Amino acid sequence: MSGLITLVSLMYLVSAACYVIGLHMMRTPKTARNGNRVSAVGMIIAVIMTFLIVINKHEATMTGSIVLAAGLILGLAYGTIRARTVEMTDMPQLVSLFNAVGGGAAAAIGTFDYLSLTAGSHISFAFSFPVALDLVIGGVTFSGSLIATGKLAGNISGKPISFPGAKLLNAIVVIVIVAAVVLTIGFPVNAWWLVLTLVASLIFGILMTIPIGGADMPVVVSLLNAFTGLAVAMAGFVIDNQALIIAGALVGAAGTILTLQMAAAMNRSVMNIIAGGFGTGDSNSAAADDVPVNVKETSPDDVGVQLAYAQNVMIVPGYGLAAAQAQHEVAELAKLLTDHDINVNYAIHPVAGRMPGHMNVLLAEVNVPYDQMKQLEEANSMFENTDVSLVIGANDVTNPAARRKGTAITGMPILDIDKSKSVVVIKRSMSTGYAGIQNELFSDDQTHMLFADAKKGLQDIIASTKEYLDE
Ligand code: NDP
Repeated sequence: MSGLITLVSLMYLVSAACYVIGLHMMRTPKTARNGNRVSAVGMIIAVIMTFLIVINKHEATMTGSIVLAAGLILGLAYGTIRARTVEMTDMPQLVSLFNAVGGGAAAAIGTFDYLSLTAGSHISFAFSFPVALDLVIGGVTFSGSLIATGKLAGNISGKPISFPGAKLLNAIVVIVIVAAVVLTIGFPVNAWWLVLTLVASLIFGILMTIPIGGADMPVVVSLLNAFTGLAVAMAGFVIDNQALIIAGALVGAAGTILTLQMAAAMNRSVMNIIAGGFGTGDSNSAAADDVPVNVKETSPDDVGVQLAYAQNVMIVPGYGLAAAQAQHEVAELAKLLTDHDINVNYAIHPVAGRMPGHMNVLLAEVNVPYDQMKQLEEANSMFENTDVSLVIGANDVTNPAARRKGTAITGMPILDIDKSKSVVVIKRSMSTGYAGIQNELFSDDQTHMLFADAKKGLQDIIASTKEYLDE
């Protein structure tokens, strides 16, 4: 057994190195795919080693080993099938579901280990403290991520859900959690304090996520991802497993950095999310829904003329581009224009689409040169010199309502598309975006709407632009 433990410890080290190298490679889209593979290899090594050590334990029974193997096979099969068949546009809810599973598993590990020890044995602070934290963070992550999954999948309203006294209830639940944690640590033989900690944490996860609406979901999903990492690291302390501690700490750290970056990009405070009621705008948010939007329609032919005679074109991709899977068409149009000496750039908003980096990933897939992808600040400095901004399936990230008080997206930095000389918006109807409010940009003088599916609309625009460029 001691030889096996040495081997397992060494292989855990190898798997930790894989996570770090993989994470490093995920810094740029160029190496991100391989980074993912390297991290996956690390995870496979860790799972095999854990399996080996558990079935070789003295107390391991045949039934236990079979249950473990069955769980492993089922998990592998489900994960492989889901990851292979998931639509790109459904990725955010899948990621959120994985967050829930991670948090839930961590909480289950803590609960089981604690309960197996409570039978009269002395439980040290060094054990009960990580167990209590594991339960709180894992419980909040589990229920919060399930609500986020429902909101992202459209099974639960994406609009903020609030009720009178919500803040007071939040405060009471937090007090209950703190008291239950103190009692769990102080009186470790009474398992009921542990149950109270878990139940209160589950309730807090729900209360924290239901008021999130508007355009603020990305920050919450990334916060819950950071929580998953922390919960897993705590579970690692509970069962003394280095692989869990290292992997959890890395996810926690990476998730925290991402959360801070997303919050900064959205001009939000992370504390507000945890305190609840975040992202609801204020009581006047309905005002933005009622904005009368009188729009002017255009045709692919008109857009073709505009593009063929432009000097600087800015493409503004959004969720609709991903939904229509129109990235190949957009790259084809851009190539057509650049081949005729027209400058083309892409304005990338940090929360465009439905997951962090969504637009970068989509455009990298069709080999858009990185120097053409302009992030928010740089893009905003270019709109004044832009002849045509072609907005493809983007809505909230262009909505000037963010500059006014009292809307669901107030304060969120947006792409200043209204500064360009001409704006063409491709979308199918006047439906709102994720935040559920109308877009004032669409009724601006210089804006024209092309009502079409992004893929079909772009194909028609490519055809007409070719004609004018060939004239
Ligand atoms: P939006 O969700 O604001 O708008 C997308 C628009 O695309 C819709 O108005 C829709 O209009 C249009 N659309 C949908 N399908 C198609 C199609 N097939 N062809 C053409 N158009 C289509 O997207 P944005 O990218 O502007 O903003 C992202 C929003 O999502 C923000 O509010 C952000 O906070 C939120 N979010 C972002 C996450 C992230 O991490 N990036 C995570 C969770 C939420 P129509 O139906 O009329 O076609």
